[in-house]
Amino acid sequence: MGSLAAAIRLAARGFEVEVFEKNEGLGGRMGRLEESGFTFDTGPSLLLMTDTYRELFASAGRELDDYVRLIPLDGQYRVNFGDGDSLTIRRALPELIRALERIEPGVTPRFYRFLADACQKYRVGRSEFVERDFEGARDFFGLRNLRLLLRTRALNNYYRSVSRFFRTEKLRQAFSLQTMYLGLSPFEAPAVYSLLPYTELAEDGLWFPEGGMYSLIEAMEKLATELGVRFHLNSPVEKVVLSKGKATGVRAGGEETEADAVLVGADLPYAYRELLGGTADGDFKFRRREKLQYTASAFMLYLGIDRKLDHMLHHNFYLSGRYKENFEAIFRDRRLPDDPSFYAVVPSKTEPDMAPQGKASLFVLVPVPHLGPNVDWEREGTSFKERVYDLLERRCGVRRDWVVFERVRTPLDWRDEYNLEEGAAFGIGHGILQVGYFRPPMVSKAIEGLYFVGASTRPGTGVPLVTIGARLVAERIGREV
Ligand SMILES: Cc1cc2nc3c(=O)[nH]c(=O)nc-3n(C[C@H](O)[C@H](O)[C@H](O)COP(=O)(O)OP(=O)(O)OC[C@H]3O[C@@H](n4cnc5c(N)ncnc54)[C@H](O)[C@@H]3O)c2cc1C
Repeated sequence: MGSLAAAIRLAARGFEVEVFEKNEGLGGRMGRLEESGFTFDTGPSLLLMTDTYRELFASAGRELDDYVRLIPLDGQYRVNFGDGDSLTIRRALPELIRALERIEPGVTPRFYRFLADACQKYRVGRSEFVERDFEGARDFFGLRNLRLLLRTRALNNYYRSVSRFFRTEKLRQAFSLQTMYLGLSPFEAPAVYSLLPYTELAEDGLWFPEGGMYSLIEAMEKLATELGVRFHLNSPVEKVVLSKGKATGVRAGGEETEADAVLVGADLPYAYRELLGGTADGDFKFRRREKLQYTASAFMLYLGIDRKLDHMLHHNFYLSGRYKENFEAIFRDRRLPDDPSFYAVVPSKTEPDMAPQGKASLFVLVPVPHLGPNVDWEREGTSFKERVYDLLERRCGVRRDWVVFERVRTPLDWRDEYNLEEGAAFGIGHGILQVGYFRPPMVSKAIEGLYFVGASTRPGTGVPLVTIGARLVAERIGREV
């Protein structure tokens, strides 16, 4: 996503752009799997902040709608709590308020205050922190910024912040689970991420591209090709070529391609280690590469089901009865949770063509720790899969004998397929010391002509943020090269 979006912007500015991709298709984590008549998006499933994609196409003089149709999703999002109760989130306020009041009588004014607070975090966070390229420390530590950070309490603890507005654990959970979209724990993430439930509820809402999330990648690939971008697939880059402190090209398949600038879209810590051999480590002013904190990873099941799953919605969250312990297992103890929270998507609800007639494609994401000494996936993978199948039966009413197609993905696969350091599916984390100016920069200070884009650089992970990062870095390249 990062490289593709940047390639579009750079080509639209008149640069000649060549993209080297290690795999046989574009999209990276935002991939597609087609098998036995079932279609799955392999990574992102929630499309938010669609203005970022519209603006990307507009920057090249095109209309997004001419390339892909986006379907608004409303009432297709259900949170299932540990005790069996559930909450369907709707954008229609009277219905949403009725549902919230049933769970927490008297919550309405506090819910509106939550929205107002999250709105401020969204507006200020986006314009002052996400959409800005902090060229120097002064840009970030300026008095105005510090005042905004304090006023919006953007860096406070997320869960404590949400708990100011909601008294029941259920609503605290329903409006904090969204940090899981980014592989973060709400008990550790900064409060600024309440912008996620806010965008879903009150700003742009939740969308789904016709044909699945991958249709957005196809639309971008088409646009990039029209603009003259050249793609080299199945072409892993072995090294960024450096000469006298300057990036002068890349080596792939033993051959060097010269360039005036190199933009690295592979996961940043991997790129520092593998493609740059540690030569640019001076870029990490505040922390060494080995000390970086990582997001969680994801254990995935892509399942073909021999019936339609009428009882499920498009997006279904199943929260553990031990909500906090689940996050502590993943983020503090770095072990597999005993009673995991998980997320199940049935895209064929919205796009019936994603499954054969009368059947359903089901995508199951279980947040798990990134790779580390406490989990041996080779040994524990099978038993964990069995645990997830038990959960599917118990919590979603999906029986194992309905499954006619299965594909599993563990953190080892995320690492091996996309070179994601530590198998962290969402890149490096977003603790206070890894956001804003503290996040590894998009422009190398150590090596001239070397730039970065993607989830592990600024502004952060998630498809819209990566798309915004692509704009910021393309603007920098436009100014400097
Ligand atoms: C399971 C899952 C669910 C998610 N859900 C959501 C969601 O619902 N909404 C959302 O907004 N975000 C979501 N995300 C996050 C989102 O997918 C990422 O933030 C975003 O797609 C990252 O894009 P990227 O360009 O930084 O990285 P990538 O997609 O990883 O792209 C990097 C590319 O570089 C390639 N590469 C690596 N090494 C080399 C090399 N040496 N040579 C050549 N090519 C190389 C890789 O193959 C890959 O194609 C999810 C992520 C995952 C894993």
